[in-house]
Amino acid sequence: MGHQIKLAYSGESISCEVALQRIFTLTEVAVTHLYKVHNGFKVTVAKPEQLTPFLSAEGQRKLADNGFSPVPSPETKAKCTIVAKKIDRTILPRSCESISQEVAAKNGVTVLDVYKPPESRIVKIRFSAPEEAQRILSRGFMMFNTSVPSYNLEPECYIHLEQCLNCYRYGHNKHTCSHIQRCSRCAGEGHFFAKCKESIKCCNCEGSHVAVSGSCPTRKELLKAKRTELRENRNTAPTYATTAATQPIQTSTPRRPTTSSRTTMPTPPNPRIHTEHKPENTSHITHNTTPKDSQP
Ligand SMILES: [Zn+2]
Ligand SMILES: [Zn+2]
Ligand SMILES: [Zn+2]
Repeated sequence: MGHQIKLAYSGESISCEVALQRIFTLTEVAVTHLYKVHNGFKVTVAKPEQLTPFLSAEGQRKLADNGFSPVPSPETKAKCTIVAKKIDRTILPRSCESISQEVAAKNGVTVLDVYKPPESRIVKIRFSAPEEAQRILSRGFMMFNTSVPSYNLEPECYIHLEQCLNCYRYGHNKHTCSHIQRCSRCAGEGHFFAKCKESIKCCNCEGSHVAVSGSCPTRKELLKAKRTELRENRNTAPTYATTAATQPIQTSTPRRPTTSSRTTMPTPPNPRIHTEHKPENTSHITHNTTPKDSQP
């Protein structure tokens, strides 16, 4: 399947081919897929650890010098994040900034983000790579002369909520939808949001927001229920339960025949790359951009 990251891009206009080469030069990662999206490129790599050069502070600096700024998906962010519970009350009043600096300094890790959910003794810490999060999860960490043991740590859970892009109900997708098409803006039937002239109404809760809004109470309720379910599952299984529940496999030691998934990855970006202009010899970068492996 591969692991995706979006790179926002703000430089002069470049083709996918050029982007691919620049990204390879900057990160030394052989990207398996690349295609243009709004404001940038979507990049796929074969292994989760290949995301590190995109997420680390140093990697981000190099990419930024060339106009690329990585926008990690919520899923990738979750993999880099730990939830530390039962934080000492003397530490809680400290700013996120000072916690971030302290954790980085005392544990030899790169901290990108610290968040303290209100009215809790929880601190969420996002590291620059999934491996750093895993390392801290298994060993615990130190801050302000206090040890935070591994049994008070949990991986952040990524919750995927399926929403249909035809009727905007939750729990199925547009390919299996049996409802009438609805407008994501006003909940009306038979037109799309781009042509909508009605006032905004969510088709799930009737609130004054669009159907895909993150602030929809229906959405929040569903997320909360899923989170509770995941937490209960995790209590009956060891730490990998979260990731296992949402994603079939994400070991960092690939034993399966990953070579096949690398060399026979499907095709989406290839036609685009080839339509821009015909590159002569770029197969050394792109493993799979030559769609001519169908001969016997
Ligand atoms: Zn539907
Ligand atoms: Zn409408
Ligand atoms: Zn709503």
